[in-house]
Amino acid sequence: MTMDNILFDSFDHDHLWHPYTSAIDPLPTYKVAGARGNRIILADGRELVDGMSSWWCAVHGYNHPELNAAAAAQIEKMSHVMFGGLTHDPAIELGKLLLEMCPAEMNNIFFADSGSVSVEVALKVAIQAAVSRSGSHEKTNFATIRSGYHGDTWNAMSVCDPVTGMHGAFGPALPRRYFLPQPASRFDGEWNPADIAPLRDLLEKHSDEIAALILEPIVQGAGGMWFYHPEYLRQARSLCDEFGVYLIFDEIATGFWRTGRCFALEHAGVVPDIMTVGKALTGGYMTMAAVITTREVAETLSRGEAGVLMHGPTFMANPLACAVACASLKLMRKQDMAANIARIESRLKRLLEPARELPGVTDVRCLGAIGVVEVEGAVDVGVFQKECVRRGVWIRPFGRNIYVMPPYITPDEDLETLCREMTDIIRQGKWK
Ligand SMILES: *Cc1c(COP(=O)(O)O)cnc(C)c1O
Repeated sequence: MTMDNILFDSFDHDHLWHPYTSAIDPLPTYKVAGARGNRIILADGRELVDGMSSWWCAVHGYNHPELNAAAAAQIEKMSHVMFGGLTHDPAIELGKLLLEMCPAEMNNIFFADSGSVSVEVALKVAIQAAVSRSGSHEKTNFATIRSGYHGDTWNAMSVCDPVTGMHGAFGPALPRRYFLPQPASRFDGEWNPADIAPLRDLLEKHSDEIAALILEPIVQGAGGMWFYHPEYLRQARSLCDEFGVYLIFDEIATGFWRTGRCFALEHAGVVPDIMTVGKALTGGYMTMAAVITTREVAETLSRGEAGVLMHGPTFMANPLACAVACASLKLMRKQDMAANIARIESRLKRLLEPARELPGVTDVRCLGAIGVVEVEGAVDVGVFQKECVRRGVWIRPFGRNIYVMPPYITPDEDLETLCREMTDIIRQGKWK
C-alpha cells in the first residue's frame, strides 16, 4: 500500500464534508489513528507535534489518563439523562467548579451543547432580560466589533465579522447588526481613546434598540487573531452601564488559561453581564459549553413576559460531558497554570521573534499560549499543511495568520520544534 492510500481516504474525499471545504476540490485530510499527549499519530504511524490543541480544546493533551477515567466511570453510571425535571452530581459539581473560577458576580449557569449554541443562548438571554428591564420590545438588536468570530449558527453568524464572516454568502437572510471598528490599540501598546468613540456614538443614537454588546475579550480568535487593549473593555463596560445595554463576553476560545489568565476578562478586571465558555471546558473530549450570567440578569429575565429562559436542548448538561469537564477543571486547579502559561508565552515570544524579519511577514504577536505570525496575503492551507506534515508538526493557518496554540503540556523542546518549523516554512515561502 502506498503512503497515500493509508493517509487519504477516498470515501472521505467523496462523501464527507470537512469544515469550510469544497465538495469539488477539497483540501487533503490526513487520517489519524490515535493521539496521546501532544502528539497526533497518523495512520501510517508518523507522529505530529500538535500546535493547535484541536482548535483551542485539548489543553491537557490527548488521551489523558484522568480524563479517560472520569469518562469511563461516568459511563458506568449513566451517559445521559434529560435535564428537564432531573439533575445529577456531574452538573452540580461542574457548576460549583465553574463559579469558583468566574468573577464573584457570576451566579447562574446554562449548560449548552456547543459554543455556537451557547452564543445563541447568550443572545436570547440578553434580549429576554433587556426587554424585561426596559419594558421595550424594541431592545432586540446587538452591537459588536469587526473581525469577531462567535460561531456558525444563525445568530452567532450575524455577529461575526461582516466581511470575512458569512454575511456575503447569506446576505439578507441574516439579521443586521451594528458593527463597530476593531480596536486598533494593541494589547501591550498605548491606549488610543479614539478606539472607543464609535461605541459612544452608536449608543447615543441607538441604545433604544440594542440589547447587548458582544465581544471576545482581549483576543479575537478565528476572525483575525488580534489582541487588543484591555482599556477598551473597561470603557465598554462603563458605556454599557451608562446606556442600559448588557455586555456579553464570549470566552469560548480565551477561557481556561489560554491567554495567561483563567479568563481573558481578568486582563481588564471587567465583569460582563453574560459570558460564554466552551472549547477547553471538557479538555477537548466532547462538545459542551455554558452561558454564565449575573443574578441580576437571571432575575430580570425571570420577571419578564415569558418568565423562563426560552431554551432547553435535548443533551443539556450531558452527564458524560459534565464529568469530563469536572476532571479537566480539577486538573487545572491542581497545577500552577499561570506559571505554566508564562513558560509557554516566554518561549513563543523568543522563538517566533526571528520571523518578524522574514519577507512577507507583517506582524508577530504572542499572548499566553498563542503565537501568531501574520503574513501579507492569504495562506495556501494545502501547501502549508503538506509541508507541516512532512516536517512532523500540525499547524493549520487561517486567512493571513499562521499561528500555534499548543496543548499546555507541550514541553519546551516541542515548542521549539513547532516554532522552528513554522518559521522555516515561512522563510522558504511555502505558504503561497
Ligand atoms: C469556536 C468559537 C465559537 C463557536 O464554538 P463551536 O463549539 O465551534 O460552536 C464561538 N465563539 C468563539 C470565540 C469561538 O472561538
